[in-house]
Amino acid sequence: MSEHSTRTKLPTTRRSKSFSLLTAFQTIASAGFLVATLLTLWTPSNLFSNRLISEMLVSMQRNEVPEVALPTMTAAPKPLIGIVAGHWGNDPGAVCENGTTEMDVNLRIATLVAQYLKAEGYPVDLMQEYDPKLRIYQAAALVSIHNDSCQYVNEEATGFKVAAAVGTVHQEKASRLTSCLINRYQSRTGLKYHENTITPDMQEYHTFDEINSATPAAIIETGFLNLDYTLLTEHPDIVARGVADGILCYVRNEPIEWSTPAP
Ligand SMILES: [Zn+2]
Repeated sequence: MSEHSTRTKLPTTRRSKSFSLLTAFQTIASAGFLVATLLTLWTPSNLFSNRLISEMLVSMQRNEVPEVALPTMTAAPKPLIGIVAGHWGNDPGAVCENGTTEMDVNLRIATLVAQYLKAEGYPVDLMQEYDPKLRIYQAAALVSIHNDSCQYVNEEATGFKVAAAVGTVHQEKASRLTSCLINRYQSRTGLKYHENTITPDMQEYHTFDEINSATPAAIIETGFLNLDYTLLTEHPDIVARGVADGILCYVRNEPIEWSTPAP
């Protein structure tokens, strides 16, 4: 482009160029001023003081607490379970030659059962044979713990027995409780189940007449104090785990194989 040809347009072009430069300069200057102003305004020391920030963080943390804690607050309370230590507070039960009594063995096992159930969050009543609490007793389940004779009968006198309360109004519940006890106790201890030697004494057990008829109840003879002596006296933890497993199976509605007939 030559000087001549563009002469007439020069002032316009110059003005336009100068205008553009001026505008650009002004734009940059005002943008710079704006940024500088904004930076000054939004500096943490100005708008967000350290105290303000920490207060905001604290309130954010506070807001989180109820959201996390809410579900646990609505958890339903666990049902009451009753455990009777056979003969406790009344008589020794079977007495072995070495002085060991059935009552001592029952109480040790029953105490551990109560301990295991409490550890799972269940409220437990540990009761004596004729405990005043048993009158019209109401609970999710009641289990009385006993043991069989110290005398040697024969090689078949080993294993455990379970019998349900006969007069209960909820037969299906009592039946499920006994099935749970048989199944879980057997798998924990490896002892065999004596289904043909349930005596009328077990089924007409006095405790069953005292309690509320809506309370599912069972009596378990955890073993024979002769052939099962070592397991009962030296490993009461295994015995008690077996009983507790059976009760938990019932109160938690766990699936069980129904192949084992309930008495
Ligand atoms: Zn007994």
